[in-house]
This record gives sequence, structure tokens and C-alpha cells, in this order.
Amino acid sequence: MTKKNDAAMVCFSGGQDSTTCLFWAKKHFARVEAVCFTYGQKHALEVEVARGIAERAGVPFQVLDVSLISQLDTNCSLTNSHIAMDETKPEDSYPNTFVPGRNMVFLTFAAILARGKGIHHLVTGVSEADYSGYPDCRDTFIRSLNVTLNLAMDDQFVLHTPLMNRDKSEVWELADELGVFDLVRNETLTCYNGIIADGCGHCPACQLRKAGLEKYLARRKK
Ligand code: ZN
Repeated sequence: MTKKNDAAMVCFSGGQDSTTCLFWAKKHFARVEAVCFTYGQKHALEVEVARGIAERAGVPFQVLDVSLISQLDTNCSLTNSHIAMDETKPEDSYPNTFVPGRNMVFLTFAAILARGKGIHHLVTGVSEADYSGYPDCRDTFIRSLNVTLNLAMDDQFVLHTPLMNRDKSEVWELADELGVFDLVRNETLTCYNGIIADGCGHCPACQLRKAGLEKYLARRKK
């Protein structure tokens, strides 16, 4: 449910997923804006990568500092340099790359920001498939938050999750369909160790990205 004459706000980090979403939004909406959140993550480079991609896409770009979240969570390896990152998912819990409440905070601030601009469509790159099972990436959470945002602000937001049911290989496929495969491959930053494009190769984000890419390229050749 997209409208060619409407505007959309994309939660944008400069990674593979949100960059694909940015170009998906550009295809489906007349006007697109991007909001990038900082929360004390170790790699400030992420913001500069995001800014550069937004500029190339011709999309207005705004940074919101929600680093309060890193003061609350002391067990997350993304915001705490003293904690070594889990490279695999522990059997009975989430990996320590999980930032509790992050997507709820991001989408809530994105909605407040969008509302002030008269924008009611919000786009986020969360996915249920192929991930570490973060609870705030699930469709049921997004639907619930959509209702809550509408009730909280007496508004009619629509949350869009174009990647929800796509595994990583299908995210690569979507980027290809949108004509930005090379841009996503060479210019986005997904790696938890802050290395652009193909990344460090061994962190969980790189492993997922690489496996998806290989799967997609094998499919594309056929
Ligand atoms: Zn990496």
C-alpha cells in the first residue's frame, strides 16, 4: 500500500538493508527523507557512510542522537567497547549485539519526526527471515507498534517493512531489481567491525551478508 504522491521517512543506517529500503522507498513514494540514529555505537563511520549514500540518492538526511539508550544497556557489545561481540548466537538467549528496545525507540522518534513534517509513511529494514531472531524485528511487533503510534499521536501512520519476509539473498535480489546492486555491494556498511563493503568477513553481520550474496549470485547465474 504505497502512494506515488505521498512522502515516506526511512530509518536509515547506511547498511545493506536500510539502503535497499531507501531505494525501494524512492521507487514507491514521491518524496523520501532519511533519518539516521546514533546511540553510542562504536562505529561513528556508520553515520558518514549513511550521509554519503543519502546525498547520492538525493534524499534529505537527518541525524538524531538517541545515545541515552547506550546508558541504559550495559550488556550490549555494540555500545560497550569492554564487551567482546558474540560471533555466534548463544543457544538460550540473544547475542550481545541485541540492543533491547532499539527498534521501538527508533520508530517512535521517526514517527514523531515524520509527523512534524506531515509524513505518515515510515519505512524500516527489519526482517523476520535469516536473522538472530531479535524480537523487535518481528512482524507482530511492527503491527503492534503501528497501532500504538496511531493511538499515541491520534494519527494514521503506515509502517512499511519491504524486507520482512526476505532472506539475505532476496534482499540482494531486491537491490538488483532496484538497480542498486553495485552501490549496495560497494558502498554500504553492515560489518560490526566497521569495515565497508564486504567487511571483515567473520562478524555475524558479515557472515550473513556474504552467505546471502553467494546464494543470490549462484541463483542469478542460472
Ligand atoms: Zn564484519
